[in-house]
Amino acid sequence: MAKKEFKAESKRLLEMMINSIYTQREIFLRELISNASDAIDKIYYKALADEGLVFNKEDYYIKVTADKASRTLTISDTGIGMTQEELENNLGIIANSGSFAFKKDNEAKDGHNIIGQFGVGFYSAFMVADDVTVVSKALGSDQAFKWESQGADGYTIEPAEKDAIGTEITLKIKSNTEDDNYDEFLEEYRLKSIIKKYSDFIRFPIKMDITGSKPKEGSEGEFEETKEEQTVNSMVPIWRKNKNELTDEDYNNFYTEKRYGFDKPLKHIHISADGAVVYNAILFIPENTPFDYYTKEYEKGLELYSNGVLIMNKCADLLPDYFSFVKGMVDSEDLSLNISREMLQHDRQLTLIAKNIKSKIKSQLLSLLKDEREQYEKFYTSFGRQLKFGVYNDYGMEKETLQNLLMFYSSKEKKQVTLAEYVERMPEDQKYIYYASGESVERIEKLPQTEMVSDKGYEILYFTDDIDEFAIKMIMSYKEKEFKNVSSGDLGIEENAEDKPSEAEENENKELFEAMQGILSGKVKAVKASKRLKSHPVCLSTEGELTIEMEKILKAMPNGQEVQADKVLEINIHHDVFKSLKAAAEGDKEKLGLYTNLLYNQALLIEGLQVNDPVQFTNDICKIMV
Ligand code: ADP
Repeated sequence: MAKKEFKAESKRLLEMMINSIYTQREIFLRELISNASDAIDKIYYKALADEGLVFNKEDYYIKVTADKASRTLTISDTGIGMTQEELENNLGIIANSGSFAFKKDNEAKDGHNIIGQFGVGFYSAFMVADDVTVVSKALGSDQAFKWESQGADGYTIEPAEKDAIGTEITLKIKSNTEDDNYDEFLEEYRLKSIIKKYSDFIRFPIKMDITGSKPKEGSEGEFEETKEEQTVNSMVPIWRKNKNELTDEDYNNFYTEKRYGFDKPLKHIHISADGAVVYNAILFIPENTPFDYYTKEYEKGLELYSNGVLIMNKCADLLPDYFSFVKGMVDSEDLSLNISREMLQHDRQLTLIAKNIKSKIKSQLLSLLKDEREQYEKFYTSFGRQLKFGVYNDYGMEKETLQNLLMFYSSKEKKQVTLAEYVERMPEDQKYIYYASGESVERIEKLPQTEMVSDKGYEILYFTDDIDEFAIKMIMSYKEKEFKNVSSGDLGIEENAEDKPSEAEENENKELFEAMQGILSGKVKAVKASKRLKSHPVCLSTEGELTIEMEKILKAMPNGQEVQADKVLEINIHHDVFKSLKAAAEGDKEKLGLYTNLLYNQALLIEGLQVNDPVQFTNDICKIMV
């Protein structure tokens, strides 16, 4: 029989498994049991849709059998089984190939990261076995098939004998080496404790034949070995248990077992509601951003159970978009088993549950912010951007819900602060909440436009996310304080008397500025004496709602809009450069043109904008140098 090759990626992953120095090899059992449980779940689904299929709970279980003599460990299930094609497609190609491809570049050498980040499922069997056989018979088919592989060089598939629907996976456990003990995976007590540890809440019985002994009949003092089938897992779903009985580790194990994520959850929320609507829920706030989180591929949703039976994998209606990072499940007795997706949307119970869940998540996040700041900051690094999108979306409809959860980098604190903290610290004479937009904190720190505001001793919030300014435009004001971009026209800061230009000065400058504006016509709306610059010679500011950062973002959008912020070139009239400019204005028209364009281009560069004509710009500089 010809050996088939694994797909390239699967092969690499397999090799990594085989040579793994990953210390937690025991998780292979969790992975296989979890697959078995999923397969039984799938039969549940089928039974729900197909009236001819009767689901008798007793008939569905997982069995783990170890045989020391042949060094085999068998995991069998009465789940939905796999057809020949499915064996080929599911086991010949790594299921998570997308995520695997994504991780390729930054994987750790020993594969530890991969295993930690993405449950590698079935292939983890190769961490402990040097031969893996899968015999499976799919629901609705008469023929069983056997898939077998000794590792990376390929696998075979052939017809096989199997009576019942389901799957039987047999691992030939590796021999011990000097460093590694594999025998433990043939020991009953060890297997039992692994199952307890990782798979206790699996809803189906995980059975084992446990060895015992009884007095041998007809002989005094002698004992004989017995085998007694036991269910090893408690099966009571974690969400039905009393919170007091559960530890963080229990929740973390549940999270991993359910494959909600491959990180550790940052926080869990266990809800047992018995008010207007009765339901249990366990929700998790993950620590890390899933790799596809900010893409279209990411699907939000919670698992939905009706009285312990899974009816939907990802019920999107249970979560608002801005909390789409939440993972977990909801179990309610009030939902009908056969409810269709369309009907669910209009289900009153479900709407109530969703509302309830939303407020629970919000209050959990607020208390995290209040009591466990460091944890909240971690959360915010991963998902803060989503909250800001939430503020912006639907015309700011949810801004009240979300604004207290926002944080921005503060010029004073040098870390993320909340709006409440900012307003709390505002000096009495400060009218606005100031912010500056830019690519990065480092870049904003150097912006000339921040000078005056910083000099006044006012705190500035740094907006480094593209969504920030748009979100803030939705909020408009916080605790009656309006937001103000440090680059916007009027900063609302009283000038010092000595900085104010005299009337004569203003008149004199007026002509110069008009001349400059003429030179820059079509590029800037005005040229003005700056009220915000202290040591820098020039900067750009904007008039009106649209700022330069917003212009950049809108232009970068896929169907880029032709928008233009109303820009103002501001000149620091106390700077030496201004004197040269004035001198040039007296007669030398060409020089004034040269200087004006140079200053304008400099201002563009400071903003992170492109100069219109880089060659002209460098030529202009050379002109001055020679
Ligand atoms: P994952 O479970 O993350 O999809 P696996 O590599 O563990 O990845 O499994 C690949 C696929 O093989 C599963 O999605 C499932 O379709 C199928 N499979 C694995 N084990 C079983 C089983 N015991 N019964 C039926 N199908 C299974």
